[in-house]
Amino acid sequence: MTHLLEVVDIAKHYPSGKGAVKAVDGVSFTLERGETLALVGESGCGKSTTARLVLRLIERSRGTVRFNGEDITALSPGALRRFRRNAQIIFQDPYASLNPRLRVGEAIMEPMEVHGIGTPAERRKRMEELLGLVGLAPYHAARYPHEFSGGQRQRIGIARALAVQPELVVCDEPVSALDVSIQAQVVNLLKDLQARFGLSFLFIAHDLAVVKHMADRIAVMYLGRIVEVAQTNELFANPRHPYTRALLAAIPHPDPARRGHVKPLGGDLPSPLNPPPGCHFHTRCPFATEICRSQDPVATGGAHSVACHHADTLPPMGAAYEGHISEAARRRLARYAEASAARSLAG
Ligand code: ADP
Ligand code: MG
Repeated sequence: MTHLLEVVDIAKHYPSGKGAVKAVDGVSFTLERGETLALVGESGCGKSTTARLVLRLIERSRGTVRFNGEDITALSPGALRRFRRNAQIIFQDPYASLNPRLRVGEAIMEPMEVHGIGTPAERRKRMEELLGLVGLAPYHAARYPHEFSGGQRQRIGIARALAVQPELVVCDEPVSALDVSIQAQVVNLLKDLQARFGLSFLFIAHDLAVVKHMADRIAVMYLGRIVEVAQTNELFANPRHPYTRALLAAIPHPDPARRGHVKPLGGDLPSPLNPPPGCHFHTRCPFATEICRSQDPVATGGAHSVACHHADTLPPMGAAYEGHISEAARRRLARYAEASAARSLAG
């Protein structure tokens, strides 16, 4: 069986003055049918550019994207139309992607019209079904986008994407602009629809917490490259790249005693215009050595792939950050050690 999606070493470089903005700089991954692969990383690391390259909304500087085994840059006009139908996108801000002058029902029927699906009556019937599927009602069809809340607008965006029965849905930060309570509802809706229709998701987020309960696998991106890929449980249990560890450490822990032990990642994401040589992460990495400053690390490949010169010798996650334990936490730990020593002497 071929992969639904196979991305091999894609890059997008934007010429800029003397150099180039390397928005995406050698990204490879696969996506299977019915799978959710999350693409996670800080704002500006190249997630949306990757999404656009995968959908061929922009042309690549290098690399290959295969959808159902076919190179999407070499499709005949008919095959390209089928690809456009089969691979849909949901945006972070559905308000920006919905035409404000189009009633919601029309917005959902539009992609069916574009692809010549059904008669007008069939399209209307399907549109009403879709409204039901995403938790809206038939009377919503006559309203305009501005009459809806952010969460409802995202439901409209989902209905519109599903109208043409795609295999792949690229979700570009679909919940990042929503309140936390609404985020969970939209994520659950997407999961339900996936189970029902066997959809495959490339799900983009800047936060690991959002994808923990949603993704089968997670790819962590840093400055135009993927630094680590693993099954979700494996990535959370055994993060191997220092950047992944920093992202995990940034997730607020429900237990206050376990908060604040890890120094958050210092410094800003460097500019993709002239990225640092060697490992792109070395300017912010607590473990960086000479080799990291001069040589690109090669991804190990396999089910848990990591691109780090020191991945095999890094201490376990807890110990790895010992040097970053705050002074207050260190004092607390010292008091605890004293108290338990005193107890054992007394006992
Ligand atoms: P993300 O979605 O992860 O926030 P993007 O893919 O939108 O990141 O952008 C990655 C980098 O590429 C950013 O530094 C951005 O400024 C730059 N970039 C994106 N599009 C363009 C463009 N059309 N021209 C020049 N630079 C761009
Ligand atoms: Mg983006």
